[in-house]
Amino acid sequence: MLAIITGAARSIGAAIAVKLSQEGYNLALIDLNESAFTENNNILNQIKTDVTVCGCDVSNYTQCEETVNKIKALGTIDVLVNNAGITSDGLLVRMSEENYDKVIAVNQKSVFNMTKLVGAVMMKQRSGSIINISSVAGLYGNAGQFNYSASKGAIIAMTMTTAKELGPRGVRCNAIAPGFISTPMTDKLSPDMQKKMLEAVALGRYGEVQDVANLAAFLASDKSSYITGQTIEISGGLSM
Ligand code: NAD
Repeated sequence: MLAIITGAARSIGAAIAVKLSQEGYNLALIDLNESAFTENNNILNQIKTDVTVCGCDVSNYTQCEETVNKIKALGTIDVLVNNAGITSDGLLVRMSEENYDKVIAVNQKSVFNMTKLVGAVMMKQRSGSIINISSVAGLYGNAGQFNYSASKGAIIAMTMTTAKELGPRGVRCNAIAPGFISTPMTDKLSPDMQKKMLEAVALGRYGEVQDVANLAAFLASDKSSYITGQTIEISGGLSM
């Protein structure tokens, strides 16, 4: 069994990599640079199955094509987790076109790039599970995140379309919409925004990266074999 995870060098992507490795998957891990995997908290030490690391900017189609060709040589591809994502927050009227385009390219176009390339392989195999990491911002919007919520909302639509197109060939596609997960991405939010968000969480705490990894492992596995096209919120009850 082989799983591809994008943005896997740290935080949520790294936790998904470790969890899927514990479940027995060999891994093809993608991040901007290969060195990202060994720089800080070396996640490769926690992986006991075979692992191939790839430096690739997932917003760049040509780089994705080269990377997927390399991974294809490893055998069947059972799981794709489209996790890589960035924020570049600001209020809509002050947001530069460059910031808008950058976030859409990394968060949204990357899902087109990777799903088109890996989806073709999975369709031929007649099996596979694709997991897209969206966000509660994509479900409900979030002031100050026009670009980010646009990209994450699009991912939900892409998930349903992928499920409809690939379902007849035995390929499933689901999205995870995390709320407030403790990572460097959320550390960047202002203390004021962090306080406001926690007040809205029924469980009154941040989620952990392992919470998201557990859900990803379920969606990757046959335990979820009749679930496709769905977006599952994991937010401690943020939106009730
Ligand atoms: P993070 O910033 O800690 O990690 C993201 C990883 O993606 C980094 O290793 C980074 O190098 C990599 N990456 C960025 N741009 C890339 C590119 N162009 N090509 C390849 N790799 C790239 O982020 P995180 O908090 O772990 O978030 C992971 C995913 O979860 C993102 O899609 C994010 O939008 C989503 N998410 C996070 C939260 C949260 O609370 N942290 C909430 C909702 C959704």
